[in-house]
Amino acid sequence: MRKRAEDLLRDVEERVRFLSDLGADFAFRARAEGADKPSILRPLEESVRRCTLCQLSAGRRQAVPGEGSYDAQLMFVGEAPGADEDLQGRPFIGRAGQLLTKIIAAMKFSREEVYITNVVKCRPPENRTPLRPEIEACQHYLLTQIKVIRPRVLVSLGKVATDFFVPSSAGMSSLRGNFHDFGSVRVMPTFHPSYVLRNEGDPRVKRLVWEDMKKVLAALGKI
Ligand code: URA
Ligand code: SF4
Repeated sequence: MRKRAEDLLRDVEERVRFLSDLGADFAFRARAEGADKPSILRPLEESVRRCTLCQLSAGRRQAVPGEGSYDAQLMFVGEAPGADEDLQGRPFIGRAGQLLTKIIAAMKFSREEVYITNVVKCRPPENRTPLRPEIEACQHYLLTQIKVIRPRVLVSLGKVATDFFVPSSAGMSSLRGNFHDFGSVRVMPTFHPSYVLRNEGDPRVKRLVWEDMKKVLAALGKI
């Protein structure tokens, strides 16, 4: 019991030290000082690659900070890196990633024009769902990425990402398809590409994702 309390305390101390090093509001301050986006986001990506703030650091090969345009109007947020992403240090490049890339192309965007990342930046063992303390340890990275990039629309892929922005006991079937405000960002929840792949026999799932993406395109003034 005592051991655990000490561990927790050390963990909290480490986070506090890290956050104040980084400046808890560092994105805001950096902007006030006129810093440009790369000068905030590149060091953030480096911090992610070296991060040991949660236990997922122990099992990863590579952390996956995210990639794309720092000026993206559209951002995609998934759950966590999988095996392929962990090997290459890039988000959404496995089977689900290839489907996401197709969806992005169908929207007449390239991967380079949008920004793609995850709620947690390191692969959970056996691809299990990230735990709450892992999400909490990691969230300042995602929040800073959003604050600095300032996308107009953010697509949350699946329940874990959607829960981050729109905490709710409702399932994806009722959350998807409607915008939810997250500060100045409009969040569109949709099914995770892995879920679409698992339901390949049911064309309705894919169709619903496309309906959601059309709403995103309309919000961006692209259709
Ligand atoms: N699934 C995710 O949620 N994120 C990835 O980067 C890859 C697969
Ligand atoms: Fe750090 Fe996030 Fe990786 Fe945990 S998941 S070690 S908080 S980067």
